[in-house]
Amino acid sequence: MIRRMILLAAPVIAVTFAAGAIADDTVHIDVQISPSNIVLGLDKGAAVTVHTDIALSAVQRDTVELSGIAPYLTKSDALGHLVAKFHQDEVEAIVAPGVATLVLSGFTNQGLAFEGADSIRVIADPAPPKQNGNSLVLSDPAAVSQSRLIQVQTLTDVEIAHILFMREEEKLARDVYLAMFDLWGVRVFDNISRSEQKHMDAIKALIDTYELVDPVVDDTPGVFTNPALNDLYTQLVAQGSASQVGALTVGAYIEDLDIIDLRNALNEVDCFCVVRVFENLESGSCNHLKAFVRLLTAQGETYTPEFLTQDEFDAIIDGSQGGPQGPQGLQIQQQRRQNQWQPMKRQRAREWYGN
Ligand code: MN
Ligand code: MN
Repeated sequence: MIRRMILLAAPVIAVTFAAGAIADDTVHIDVQISPSNIVLGLDKGAAVTVHTDIALSAVQRDTVELSGIAPYLTKSDALGHLVAKFHQDEVEAIVAPGVATLVLSGFTNQGLAFEGADSIRVIADPAPPKQNGNSLVLSDPAAVSQSRLIQVQTLTDVEIAHILFMREEEKLARDVYLAMFDLWGVRVFDNISRSEQKHMDAIKALIDTYELVDPVVDDTPGVFTNPALNDLYTQLVAQGSASQVGALTVGAYIEDLDIIDLRNALNEVDCFCVVRVFENLESGSCNHLKAFVRLLTAQGETYTPEFLTQDEFDAIIDGSQGGPQGPQGLQIQQQRRQNQWQPMKRQRAREWYGN
């Protein structure tokens, strides 16, 4: 996954930037899912309710979904915030016993993506009703023994490797951008380093959920467990220190690399929660790539992709891919999600219900 950095000849010129505010386009909202515990198969016909802190009036209702599931009802609470209700049996079809992180997402009337996640505890179906004398006693779900709870949806070794690698690759991006902001004071590096911190946090949440060992043992910028990332950090900071154009080129290079690594990872990852996080990171990276390329173009510079093909790169820059702001971006994202979720739901249902 690591590639050698090719040192790009960047002309050493002092440039003053019109530092525009370029941020991760996704609006992060708070969501609360109730009930916070679901016992599989127990509540036929029950609802799962998601409370948010986004105004209902700001939301395109038909774009709201909970990890791919459409709500049967959207309404506002007393404060005017979006409340979405989902059929519990549909939620049960996409979770496994253990901890499930579900993401409520959608688009605002302005076409901005919004999302927020919450975790619920999923408890295995209680034992079948037992005969106790003449009366039928349902075993207490709270007393379902620990051994019946699968800790979390099982990950493959390949999925784990991708999660651990991406945790530090996001750190690489954050740390290089922090160094570039210190050096050049160009606003874009500050904004995007904050976004990379969110990406690191999203992967940390996966690491915690799946009880993996976090490779980030020291959060100090420039410190990595993976020696290849350590070397790459040193190389990139050196290149970005030569000039502001060099720094922006390093930014584009990191995002180019990130997108390819995330796309490769997405080809090998099936686990629902991991796919969702990686897709969000990929979408963020596309926005970041566009931001760096826009600033380079403004300086009369051209970035030639090192990892993406020219066609893939052009599709991102044109806005037809990788973000909701392009003319077809929204449609492509929604279509891609639908393509991904439908077979996954069916497969999960087969795995968990044995048919
Ligand atoms: Mn990132
Ligand atoms: Mn990025």
